[in-house]
Amino acid sequence: NGEEDQTQDYLFKIVLIGDSAVGKSNLLARFARDEFYLNSKSTIGVEFQTQKMHIDGKEVKAQIWDTAGQERFRAVTSAYYRGAVGALVVYDISRRQTFDSIGRWLNELHTHSDMNVVTILVGNKTDLKDAREVSTDEGQALAEAQGLFFMETSALDSSNVTAAFQTVVKEIYDILS
Ligand code: GDP
Ligand code: MG
Repeated sequence: NGEEDQTQDYLFKIVLIGDSAVGKSNLLARFARDEFYLNSKSTIGVEFQTQKMHIDGKEVKAQIWDTAGQERFRAVTSAYYRGAVGALVVYDISRRQTFDSIGRWLNELHTHSDMNVVTILVGNKTDLKDAREVSTDEGQALAEAQGLFFMETSALDSSNVTAAFQTVVKEIYDILS
């Protein structure tokens, strides 16, 4: 009944992955605290941040995990992925090399977590229009080929940041509820 629905608790673990400096920590800072750091260092990284959201009138908690910079050494551990039901796989639209790494990150994700983890490919830093090296079409095509959601974002000007996280949480909710 309705009372039971009220007390139902949803907690979804979602991981942020992708090359160093693509903006993972700033996407989380923008989403959870509406903050942005121009010269962020790994020190701003928290282990995870829990964000309450409302879907279909229900309270859902997204527990979003951020690396503390260990991706620089390709040393993201299996504990980081354990129990994840969602993932944002992030590249920087102004650095093609970070887009070329996506396949490796997807392999790593699927090695350490469930094949069904809800995944969105995120092309961050759309504010850097003049420095773009990866087109929207290329991002979209990769996402379609891999069966991923896709969105381009800017943690700097906030565009699509909430939408990217919400897409993942809504899909997880629809699958699990
Ligand atoms: P991480 O290593 O993936 O966690 O990346 P950070 O969040 O630490 O960001 C790395 C650098 O990119 C920092 O200097 C940020 O200020 C910058 N940055 C992050 N997101 C954006 C964005 O959307 N636009 C621009 N122009 N810079 C960004
Ligand atoms: Mg970081």
